Amino acid sequence: MAKILIIEDNAANMKLATLLLRNAGHSALCAVDAEIGLMLAHAEQPDLILMDIQLPGMDGLAATALLKQDPATAAIPVIALTAMAMKADKEKSQIAGCDAYIAKPLRCQELYAAIDSLLSRAKPQTGSEADNLNPSS
Ligand code: MN
Repeated sequence: MAKILIIEDNAANMKLATLLLRNAGHSALCAVDAEIGLMLAHAEQPDLILMDIQLPGMDGLAATALLKQDPATAAIPVIALTAMAMKADKEKSQIAGCDAYIAKPLRCQELYAAIDSLLSRAKPQTGSEADNLNPSS
């Protein structure tokens, strides 16, 4: 169970993403543009952010770059969401600092796999298992 912030301007996509996250036991916070998303990221310190690339006003890549430059939010993993699986978008999202990239329409298995992978990477210290893997600590 994680607290996940969705930044998405399309109501249908927001509804779908919220439903998929809640079905997986996560709680979802919703922002309809980058400005609200940045504010919620600071105020709520979510465990992960789903970031639509195409947003009105500031786009998702600019918003991700701001999050990654700010020590208060830099550690929060960001999954970029884009309408089309374009190579240029993928490269740009990596440059902006996104941790993963998913092409819409959202498919639940792909979304869950990306979330699980990033959450386990973000919190390696949660169990004794992590300690056992690192004999030097
Ligand atoms: Mn959009």
